Amino acid sequence: MLKLRLLDQFFSNKLYNFLHNAHMFIIFIPSKQKLVSMSRPKNNRIVYEPPSYTEFKPAGVSIKSLEEIQLTLDEFEGIRLADLLGMSHEEAANEMGISRSTFSRLIVKSRKKIANFFFQGKSLVVTGGNIHFRQNIFKCADCGHMFRIDIRNKMATCSECGSNNLLNLAGSFGHGECCRVAYLDYKDKE
Ligand SMILES: [Zn+2]
Ligand SMILES: [Zn+2]
Repeated sequence: MLKLRLLDQFFSNKLYNFLHNAHMFIIFIPSKQKLVSMSRPKNNRIVYEPPSYTEFKPAGVSIKSLEEIQLTLDEFEGIRLADLLGMSHEEAANEMGISRSTFSRLIVKSRKKIANFFFQGKSLVVTGGNIHFRQNIFKCADCGHMFRIDIRNKMATCSECGSNNLLNLAGSFGHGECCRVAYLDYKDKE
C-alpha cells in the first residue's frame, strides 16, 4: 500500500505534468498498472474445509521409500467438488471463487496427479496452496470425536468428553486467522 500511496503522490505532482507534456506518458502507464497488480494480494481460492486424511500410499510399502506427489489443497478440493459431489465446472468454480476456465485447468492437473499416484507406486500428500477455509474441523485426541465448525469460531474443549486435547485441522495447515480475515473481506464485497 505504501508503494501505491507514493505512486499516487508521484502522479499528482508537477513531475507528472512535465512528463505528460514531454510525451513520456506512455512509458509510465504500463509500469503503474504493473505496480498495482503486484502489490494487490493474490486472490485466495476457497477450500470448504481441511481434509481429514492427508497422506496416501500403496499398501505394504514404507512411505519413506516412496517418491512423493504433492496435491495442493485447491487441487484436492477440485476433486471433491467435481468428482465426489459431481458438480459442473461452473458450479465448482463458483464454490472456490475462481473462474470456470481456471477450474477446468485445475481439475486436469489434479486428475493427472491422482493417475500418477495410482500407476506409478508413489505416495500422495495433500499440502499447501493459495487458499482459505470456510469451515474448520476439530478432532478430539482423547475420544476421537470430530467437530465441524465455522472458520470464524474457535473451540477449546470437547463437548463429548470435556478434553482440551483438540487437534485443529485448519491450524495444521497454518490457517485460521487468515481465513477469518479473508471471510470478512469476502462478505464485505457481497
Ligand atoms: Zn472428546
Ligand atoms: Zn487462511
